[in-house]
Amino acid sequence: MTTTEVTRTFESLNPTTGDVVGTHPIHSDDEVRAAVERAREAAAWWSALTYDERDRHLSTWKGVITRRLPQLASVMHEETGKPHGDAMLEAALAIDHLAWAAGHAGKVLKRRKVAPGLLMANQAATVEYRPLGVVGVIGPWNYPVFTPMGSIAYALAAGNAVVFKPSEYTPGVGEWLARTFLESVGRPVLQVVTGLGETGAALCRAGVDKVAFTGSTATGKRVMAACAETLTPVVIEAGGKDAVIVDQDADIDAAADATLWGACSNAGQTCTGVERAYVHERVYDEFLAALTAKARGLRADATAGSQLGPITMPRQLGVIRGHIQDALDRGGRAVVGGLDAVGERFVQPTILVDVPEDSAAVQEETFGPTVTVARVGTMEEAIARTNGTRYGLGSTVFSKARGMEIAGQIRSGMTAVNGVITFAAIPSLPFGGVGDSGFGRIHGPDGLKEFTYAKAIARQRFKPLLALTTFARTEKADQQLASMITMLHGRGTTIPKG
Ligand code: NDP
Repeated sequence: MTTTEVTRTFESLNPTTGDVVGTHPIHSDDEVRAAVERAREAAAWWSALTYDERDRHLSTWKGVITRRLPQLASVMHEETGKPHGDAMLEAALAIDHLAWAAGHAGKVLKRRKVAPGLLMANQAATVEYRPLGVVGVIGPWNYPVFTPMGSIAYALAAGNAVVFKPSEYTPGVGEWLARTFLESVGRPVLQVVTGLGETGAALCRAGVDKVAFTGSTATGKRVMAACAETLTPVVIEAGGKDAVIVDQDADIDAAADATLWGACSNAGQTCTGVERAYVHERVYDEFLAALTAKARGLRADATAGSQLGPITMPRQLGVIRGHIQDALDRGGRAVVGGLDAVGERFVQPTILVDVPEDSAAVQEETFGPTVTVARVGTMEEAIARTNGTRYGLGSTVFSKARGMEIAGQIRSGMTAVNGVITFAAIPSLPFGGVGDSGFGRIHGPDGLKEFTYAKAIARQRFKPLLALTTFARTEKADQQLASMITMLHGRGTTIPKG
């Protein structure tokens, strides 16, 4: 990426070749504010539609994206370097989420009755989830369609307008999405603003009603600080350091296959990518042998049909090299790859063993096709070590007998049992993390509610038998209330003596 200050544009580059893919405007603070103003007008129209009407508009857009999938995949491939097939898979999953969000918004969010309780039996109580207005979406480059669409699709389906700031590495993908939306719906309910980090910062301050941020933990903190100035709520989908746990009864070949794909697909640039493996000592050797054999058959290069693309963001190469160097300096060994695996644009699969638990390769997000593999004596040790980082995004368990039990003890937003990253492709499941991985949820009913506020209404159906909310309340009413509350709640277990 290079910038030209005079013309206020920047170029997105093909990370495989360095060629210019496109030139895009650096939108200023004023331009971002203007986009938010336009979005507010569009939101007034959009939010007044019925859920069915919005579903129809979003279905039209979904059809356009689906029919032009190869075109979208080409833009993704050019800007990120990811293999065309991976780009198709990513976009296909995003389409499935769009369909789910549009189809389920009414059911999840529309007004529904709730029980008013005995004390308020004269009231009809209802709750519905209203759109917030304009949602600012700030997205990363690694999954330039799937990741922002996790916010965009759900925010739109809930009745909001969206202003989307894509990563400076993938502005073309963002523009493609906004262009096809306008073509399909005819109003700027989804707009894109492009630029560098400052454009994202401008979006935080442009009067949006919520910011949905996906990116690194460090930038997430800056976004939150900017949003704090105006009390703008945020969703933070940040980094991860996901582990796979392999129990002694696991299908070892499947576990090795999943670990390799989880660690290396998208050249390891996956927030929920596998970066650590904790393997029961009884199957450690067998697992490591299977993993190494498979990894040796995988190569990152620019040839047609290559399964691994380049590292999209050049400065990440230094982080990956640093983590490998630190691991080796501190007694670790590379059984596949190593320092030589880090080239000028590509990184070859690297498997590290005997790496101290407090090293960067185990604690920090590497974001490259690397994985540390450690031997554990028990699943309890595996769980404790899995939970031993500041992150808590996803996780994986391979076990025949104890999968659910182990999954339940991992402190992470999502866990895949006997599969890898499967949770991300199930639209009805919430997606998000804890700790340094952020907070808030996209996907599923939680993801729809994330872009709304709960609106509660209590409507009096008939005069209360006990008038409580009036200065005319009588002593008798107080006594009746005391009797009723004792009858309802006074029979709990008494406090144990001593
Ligand atoms: P960054 O944090 O560098 O950037 C994310 C977005 O924030 C980009 O659009 C960036 O713009 C923008 N930005 C940068 N500075 C600011 C600022 N001060 N205010 C507002 N916005 C700003 O992350 P990456 O793009 O490098 O993405 C990789 C990270 O994303 C990894 O840590 C990965 O784990 C995480 N991620 C998390 C996911 C999740 O769901 N939890 C999913 C996918 C990725 P610009 O690019 O123009 O600088």
